[in-house]
Amino acid sequence: MNFFVSAGHPMYKGAVGVLDETVVDRAVVKELDIVLREMGHTVTVLNSESAKDYVEEVQVANSSSYDWYVDIHANCYSKESANGVETLVYADNKPEAHSISKNISELGFYNRGVKVRTDLYILKNTKAKALLVECFFISNKNDCDLYNKVGAKAIAIAIAEGLTGQTYKSNEIEKPTVNETIEAKPVQPTDDWVARLQAECNKQGYSNQVVDNIAGKNTLAGCPTLKKGSKGNITKLLQEKLISLGYDLGKHGADGDFGTATYNAVVKFQKDNGLTTDGIVGQNTWRKLLNL
Ligand SMILES: [Zn+2]
Repeated sequence: MNFFVSAGHPMYKGAVGVLDETVVDRAVVKELDIVLREMGHTVTVLNSESAKDYVEEVQVANSSSYDWYVDIHANCYSKESANGVETLVYADNKPEAHSISKNISELGFYNRGVKVRTDLYILKNTKAKALLVECFFISNKNDCDLYNKVGAKAIAIAIAEGLTGQTYKSNEIEKPTVNETIEAKPVQPTDDWVARLQAECNKQGYSNQVVDNIAGKNTLAGCPTLKKGSKGNITKLLQEKLISLGYDLGKHGADGDFGTATYNAVVKFQKDNGLTTDGIVGQNTWRKLLNL
């Protein structure tokens, strides 16, 4: 296949957190170029410096016939707890995007899955199949530590295998092995959120369940419907969860009051998860929040 690969942003113009995004983007692109070539593919790497903006990048990409446009980024968010990999597509019709997120998550990063983004110029205007990989969060220390541990090469291999369906074999470089403790405990902050939710739902009389910090059928059944105007500790737990997943709740944060910011975050969460976007946290939304 014929790949067009670009590194997120012009040098030192990307996001800066624990690490600098542009440095990470370039390191991954450099390895991705090598890995894809070793797998037998043709690769054109675009130096963002040589195109002044996304419009020009897309013009370059559209001037030849490529099978894929792969844009490499690292995510950044004001809430430092936001973590993990996500792959962005214009329409969720590319199994390769799911494979990439899955493969990178197997290195120990939290799998945020595939996000449909119809507002991104590259995804919208490229003739080739296009996807954008947000490899991990440079604003999250655990993600950055894990990246430093596994290296850009491992991420490049994960992306290349996801794109091609091939297994990378190299005599020179062995696929980095992931420390067992990292595999067993992904980068999710140690969290008793489910236990606190179970206890609160019991306390308020919605359920009578074992508090074991393991979400199950009884946990879900015990979650009351929350909507604009709801107030209290269960609302607060909902807000905590949304924040930990990277949704912005504005300046009030988790205040136990289901207002406009919470409503907007819920709608966005529902949209991201293919749910009805009614801003009401009923059983279907709870099911996704509980990862069931
Ligand atoms: Zn970026």
